[in-house]
Amino acid sequence: MGIAKIIDGKKIAADFCQNLAEEIQKNHISPKLAVILVGDDPASLIYVKNKQKKAQEVGVVVETYHLSGMSSERMILELIDELNKRTDVHGILLQLPVPIHLNPQTLIERIHPDKDVDGLHPVNVGRMMSKIPTLIPCTPMGCLYLIKQIPVPLVGRRAVVVGRSALVGRPLAYLLLQEDCTVTQAHSKTVHLDKVCSQADILVTAVGVPHLIGANAVKKGAVVIDVGINRLDNGEITGDVDFKAVQNIASYMTPVPGGVGPMTVAMLLFNTFKAAQNQIKKGLNIMPYKS
Ligand code: NAD
Repeated sequence: MGIAKIIDGKKIAADFCQNLAEEIQKNHISPKLAVILVGDDPASLIYVKNKQKKAQEVGVVVETYHLSGMSSERMILELIDELNKRTDVHGILLQLPVPIHLNPQTLIERIHPDKDVDGLHPVNVGRMMSKIPTLIPCTPMGCLYLIKQIPVPLVGRRAVVVGRSALVGRPLAYLLLQEDCTVTQAHSKTVHLDKVCSQADILVTAVGVPHLIGANAVKKGAVVIDVGINRLDNGEITGDVDFKAVQNIASYMTPVPGGVGPMTVAMLLFNTFKAAQNQIKKGLNIMPYKS
């Protein structure tokens, strides 16, 4: 029995970032991303650190606003207003999740759509659904980029996306539909999940349940993209897919870690670059080149 080829997200993201760095240099712009982190969620602290490190390598400047977990909605809205006004800030990212006393939607809707590098503002969601070029959520865009690296045509293929969050599952299902896949969206209330998944030529899981997807849920030769990030009791990081059980069935698979994660960061930097380009084109901000 064959063993699935690994889609090396780390390497693909590194190549993507190298090209992006060259593109930023060529365009003589200095994209700046403001990251708002509220509280001390350990995973969020690691994600923000990763983003800062990668951004620096690519030539995107990051300003991090690490606020107390007790911060009021009003205080954060005021910060967003200030960042919206600043012509040297091109992208604003609110690190999710935010503490329970805050409504993430209220905060997201305050970010100017042109600076919404997470693509979560209703204006950007609406533009995406209307096929108007816009800022698209980073993880779905990263998944699609990975899928497009492998020699598998998408047109007419059956895709199953497990998960329906605004951040990952829903926009990803839409992007696959745009690629002419026949898309099924599965979720926590889906009956016979394994059976639904086992029909997929392209199976993407964005759930957050370790080993949810086993051998019974995968069709022979399927492409399996695992978005899930789960920390086990022993500290190990794993995805939603039982990697060992599925690797003899799938044709291509992403590992966790080292699959979708690095691509998400790469796409965030890409969106920041696009946002900067767009704002410069609109005449909102002409930044001199910084060497
Ligand atoms: P979420 O909690 O907002 O959504 C989870 C989705 O899974 C829901 O739509 C729910 O209906 C579905 N679900 C829950 N239990 C299920 C079950 N038993 N069977 C089928 N569906 C089920 O989470 P999210 O923000 O979409 O993230 C999902 C996972 O992806 C998490 O593990 C998260 O850490 C990870 N994630 C990874 C990246 C990355 O860059 N790799 C980015 C974002 C999220």
